[in-house]
Amino acid sequence: MSAPLWTGEKLIAALRARPEGAVPPVVTGASIDTRTLEPGDVFFAITGEARDGHDFVRGALDKGAALAVVDEAHAAQFEGAGALAIVPDVLKGMEHAGTARRAELKAGIVAVTGSVGKTGTKEALRLVLSRQGKTHAPVASYNNHWGVPLTLVRTPADIAYGVYEIGMNSPGEILPLARMVRPQVAIVTTIQPVHLAAFASLEGIAEEKAGVYWELEEGGTAIVNADIPQSELLRDIARSGPAGRIVTFGESPDADVKLVSCALKPDMSVVEARVLGEPVTYRLGSPGKHIVLNSLAVLAAVHALGADLALAALALGDLKPPAGRGARQVLQAPGGRVTLLDESYNGNPASMRAAIENLGRLPVEGRGRRIAVLGDMLELGPTGPELHRGLAEPLVSNGIDKVFTCGPLMKGLHESLPSAMRGAYAATASDLEPLVLDAIRGGDTVTVKGSLGTRMGPIVKAILARF
Ligand code: ATP
Ligand code: MG
Repeated sequence: MSAPLWTGEKLIAALRARPEGAVPPVVTGASIDTRTLEPGDVFFAITGEARDGHDFVRGALDKGAALAVVDEAHAAQFEGAGALAIVPDVLKGMEHAGTARRAELKAGIVAVTGSVGKTGTKEALRLVLSRQGKTHAPVASYNNHWGVPLTLVRTPADIAYGVYEIGMNSPGEILPLARMVRPQVAIVTTIQPVHLAAFASLEGIAEEKAGVYWELEEGGTAIVNADIPQSELLRDIARSGPAGRIVTFGESPDADVKLVSCALKPDMSVVEARVLGEPVTYRLGSPGKHIVLNSLAVLAAVHALGADLALAALALGDLKPPAGRGARQVLQAPGGRVTLLDESYNGNPASMRAAIENLGRLPVEGRGRRIAVLGDMLELGPTGPELHRGLAEPLVSNGIDKVFTCGPLMKGLHESLPSAMRGAYAATASDLEPLVLDAIRGGDTVTVKGSLGTRMGPIVKAILARF
C-alpha cells in the first residue's frame, strides 16, 4: 500500500497552522471546491473574486473533509464543527504546504508555460512519463496562483515525475509560481499574441514567460522554441539564469530537437525528428502541425529527464486532443455524416490559425462543406479588431467554405470575408446557435472555436443534441 498523501500532523506543520479539534491521522486529497470534494480531503477556504471559501467550510466538513484550512478572522465561527488548521492567510498556507511537498520530492520535475499549448504539452508529458514511472500532473489548466500550489499539495511524495502548468494573465505572475515548482526542466511552448491587453509587446510576454528559466534548479534544462522571433531573447534570458543546458526545438535547421518531416493526416500525424542527433520516428495520435511542434518540446523534456526516448515516442501514438481543444466527433445527419471539432475551450490568434489549418485539411463528404463557427478572442487589447479581421486570410487560403461568427470583434471579420464565405453573424453565441443548427447538413465538417468567455461550448452541445 502506498503512503497516505499527507499525515494530518505533517500537513499542519507544512501549513504552519495552529490545529483545532482532533488532528486527522491521514489526509487523502486536497480541494478548494465542495462540489468536487471527496471524503478525506483537506479543504482550503480560498477567497476568490466572487466567493469567500469560508462560506463553504461547514459544507466541506459535512461532506467528510478530514481538515479545513481557515484564516484567523473566521476561525471562531467554526469552533466544534470539525478539525481545523488555522492560518493567517489560507492561500499562503497552501503555498507553504505546496513548497514543503516540492522539497520532499525526488522526482524529475517539468514546468510548462507559454502563450498556447501548455495543457496539451502537459497532457502529452503525463501520457509519456506515466508509462515510465509514477507521474503527477494537474487536472485541467490548474496553472494560476491557486492552481499551482493546489497541484503541489496534491502531489504524492513518491512520484518519479511531476509536470506542472504555469500560466499568467498579467506581469509578475510566473516567477513566484515557478519558484514553488522549482523545475529541473522548463518549457516555454511558444510566444503568441495572447493576453496582449496586459503587456506592451510580444517581447514583454517573452520576458515574463522566461521567468520560468530563472527558477530552474541549478544545472537544469531550459527548453526554448527555435522558430519564434523571440527565440534569441529567450535563450539570452535562459543563459543568465541557473540553467546548465539550453535545448531548442522546432523546424529551424539549427534546432537541437528538430522536425525532419511530418505527414499531417486528418486525425493523426507521422513525424520524423532528430533529438540531439538521434533519429526518432513516431505516430502522433492528435492532429495538427502545432501538436507536432509541441511534441518536439515533449521529447526534448523526456531527453533532459534521462527518460526513455523510444518508449516516449511510442506512447505519443496514443495522444488524444483534450476536451474542447480539437476533440473530433462524427455524427449522423439526415443527408450523411457530420464531423464536429470541438475547440470551444480556447481561442486566440495562434490557436485559431492552427484550428483553421486543421479544418482545411479535413475531408468533407459528398457536397459537404468546411464550416468555421467562430466567437470573439478576448483579452487582446487595442490590436483585437485587427487580429480578428486578419483571420480572413487563413480562412480563404485554407479553403473554408462558410464562416459563422459572433461577438463584437468578430463583426469585423464577418465584414472582411468574401460574401460567398459569409455564413451568418450574430451579436452573441446564443443568438448564433439556431442559425448554425439550421445551416448544418450531412457531409459538413464543422469547427467551433472562441475564447472560453465567448461561450461557444453551448453551440457544441446544441449540435451534439441535434444530430
Ligand atoms: P490556457 O492558457 O487556456 O491554459 P494552454 O496554453 O493550456 O491554454 P492548450 O489548452 O494546450 O493551451 O491549447 C489551447 C489551444 O491552442 C488549443 O486549441 C490547441 O489546439 C492550440 N494550440 C496548442 N499548441 C499550439 C501551438 N503551439 N500553436 C498554436 N496553437 C496551439
Ligand atoms: Mg491550459
